[in-house]
Amino acid sequence: MALKRRDLLSAGVSAAAVAANLASPRMADAQVLQVPAVWDRTADVVVIGSGASGMPAAIVAREAGSSVILLEGEKHIGGHGICSGGNVPLGGGTSRQKKYGIEDSPDLLFRDLTDWSVVEPNGFPDYRYNDREVIRAFADNSAPTFEWLVAHGVVFVDKAPDGQGGTAVGNSVPREHHAAVMGWPMVQTGKPADPSVQATMSSGNGLMRPLEVSAKKAGVAILLEHRMTALYRQSPNSGRILGVAVDNKGKKVNIRARKAVVIATGGSSTNVNFRRMFDPRLTEEYCGVAGQPYSDQDGYGEIAAMAVGASLWGLYNQTGEFGDPLTKPGTVGSQYGYRNLQWMPGSPVFDKVRASGLKVADWQNLILVNMLGKRFYDETAPQYTSNDYNSIRPYRQGSYLNAKNVKYDPSNFLNAALAGIGDGRNGGGPIWAIFDADAVAREKWIPNPPNVDIAAGFFFTADTLAELARKIVMKYQRVPMPADVFEQTVARYNSFVDAGKDDDFGKPKPLYKIATPPFYAAWATPVIHDTRAGLRINAKCQVMDMNGHVIAGLYSCGESAGGFSEHGLARATCQGRIAGTNATAERRQA
Ligand SMILES: Cc1cc2nc3c(=O)[nH]c(=O)nc-3n(C[C@H](O)[C@H](O)[C@H](O)COP(=O)(O)OP(=O)(O)OC[C@H]3O[C@@H](n4cnc5c(N)ncnc54)[C@H](O)[C@@H]3O)c2cc1C
Repeated sequence: MALKRRDLLSAGVSAAAVAANLASPRMADAQVLQVPAVWDRTADVVVIGSGASGMPAAIVAREAGSSVILLEGEKHIGGHGICSGGNVPLGGGTSRQKKYGIEDSPDLLFRDLTDWSVVEPNGFPDYRYNDREVIRAFADNSAPTFEWLVAHGVVFVDKAPDGQGGTAVGNSVPREHHAAVMGWPMVQTGKPADPSVQATMSSGNGLMRPLEVSAKKAGVAILLEHRMTALYRQSPNSGRILGVAVDNKGKKVNIRARKAVVIATGGSSTNVNFRRMFDPRLTEEYCGVAGQPYSDQDGYGEIAAMAVGASLWGLYNQTGEFGDPLTKPGTVGSQYGYRNLQWMPGSPVFDKVRASGLKVADWQNLILVNMLGKRFYDETAPQYTSNDYNSIRPYRQGSYLNAKNVKYDPSNFLNAALAGIGDGRNGGGPIWAIFDADAVAREKWIPNPPNVDIAAGFFFTADTLAELARKIVMKYQRVPMPADVFEQTVARYNSFVDAGKDDDFGKPKPLYKIATPPFYAAWATPVIHDTRAGLRINAKCQVMDMNGHVIAGLYSCGESAGGFSEHGLARATCQGRIAGTNATAERRQA
C-alpha cells in the first residue's frame, strides 16, 4: 500500500554518516535515503535474514496472524545456522533433560550464564559481561524454545544432553541438544548423510530445513537474493521504523513494515572495517570466515540500525579471548579452513569455495611459518581454550573458587599468529603450513585440486625450499618470503628433530624432518568465526538507541544482537522466537 504525501511530512534522512564511514560496495547507495512515496511491497512484519534466528522469528509472527516477508540476501536460506554443527545448548528444564533425569531450571540457567566467577584456562571470563536482562529473557524462554523446535519438525538425537560442541564452561548441568541431520541434503556435500547415521549425526541442516518447511507451510513469503541495504525511519533519530530498502540483483525494492522490522542478519565477522572496531589486527587476510561463502556475516544489520541511531552492546564479549570468535584452522591449502566445516565437491557453493582443503590429523607433520618464512609458535598448541562445559571441576555456582581452581594455560597459538612480522602494520599476514612428500604420505593427502586451491594462490609446490619461497606470491603476502631465511628455518627445525627437542617454541618432541621433495606451502591462516557483540536489545529484543530508548518498530536477535556471550544456536533460535512474538504484537500502522 502506498503512503500518502502527508504521511511523509516528517520523513527524512534515515541511513547516514555511520553507513558512509563503514561503506562497502553494497552499502554505497544507502547513505541518505528519503522515505519512499510509494512502497513496492508491504507486510506486517519484515524479517531480515533466514538463519537460525530469522526463521523462528518469521514463523512465530506468521502463526500469530501477521503477514510476514522474510528477506534473504543469498540464493539460499539458512545462513550460518544451516552450516552449523546443530549442537543447540538450550536448557532450563527441556523435556529431553527431564527424560534423562537432568534437573535444570530457568533460574539455574540464568545464574550459570551470569556467573562472574567462571573463567577459561587463560583467565578470560565467559559470562561476567553478559547483560542480565537479555540473559533472563533467554533463561525463561530456553526450554520452551526446545519444545517449539520439536513441534516445528526438528528431530533431536535421542540421547542425554551433553556438553559436546559449543557449550562453554561453567554449566551446572548438561544442556547441549543435537539436531539430527535426518534425510536432508547437506549444504556441505550436496548429499544426504549416510542412512546409518542420519538419526544420530548432529547437523544444522537438520535444524534449518524443517524450519524452512514450517515457514512455507505457515505462509511466510521468503524472498531470496533480497539484501537489505538500509532502514527507513520517520526521522533520522526519532520516530518509528517504517520499512527497509532492499537490493534485488541490482534492482532497488522498498518494503514497508506496518508493525516491525526484525534484524536477524547474523554477525559482522566478514566485514573487515566492522570487525576491526573490536580488534585492529583482523585485517583483510583473515578471509576464510567460518560459514563463508555460504552466507556473509557482513554486519549490515548493525550498520543499518546504527545509521538510524541504534547502539552497540556488550563489546567485551567480542574482544575477550574465549570461545570461537577466532580459531586455529583445521584444514590447510584452501581459503576456508574452519575445523568443523569442510566443503566438498557437490556443495551448492563449491564454485565459490574452490577447494576442500587438507584436513590435518597430526600437527607434527608440518611447521607453520609467517610471511618472512619464520616459525612463531608450537604448531601443536591449541587456540585460546578448550571451551568445554566440564573444564571447571568441581564447578561451584558463583564461587571465586572456580577462578582460583583454574590452572593457567598460556598455550595460545592465535596471538602468536596474529603478531605479524614487526613491519609496523596491523594484521599477522598469511600463515603457511610447510611440509614435504613424506608428510603427504603419512597424512594420506592428495595435494591436487579440488583438495587444494592452486589457482587462487592458497597452495604452492616446488622441488626445492628456495624455489617454494619464491613462488609464494598472492595478494595477502605483503612481502616476498626471503628464501635464505626460509631455508634456515627448515634446517633449524630439522635439527630439532635430530635432537628430539624444540629449543625455540617447545613443540613436544618434534618427530619428522622436512626433507623429501616436493615441498609444499599451504594456507593456514587463522579463521574468524562467532560474533558475540551486536545491537543493544532489551528483554523483548527491541533495539535500543544511544540514549537507552527503544527504537519503535525495530527488533534484533541472534548474532546481530549484543549482550550475550555464548556460541550461537540456542540464543539465536530463542531470541528469534522472542523477537517474532513481540514484533507481531505491535499495533499495525494505518
Ligand atoms: C561452521 C559453523 C558451525 C557452527 N556450529 C554451531 C553449533 O554446533 N552450535 C551452536 O550453538 N552454534 C554453532 N554455530 C554458530 C551458529 O550457527 C550461529 O551462531 C547462528 O547460526 C547465528 O544465527 P543468526 O540468525 O544470528 O545468523 P545466521 O544463521 O548466519 O543467519 C543470518 C542470515 O542473514 C542473511 N543476511 C545477512 N545480511 C543480510 C542482509 N543485509 N539482507 C538480507 N539477508 C541478510 C544471511 O545471508 C544469513 O542467511 C556454527 C557456525 C558455523 C559457521
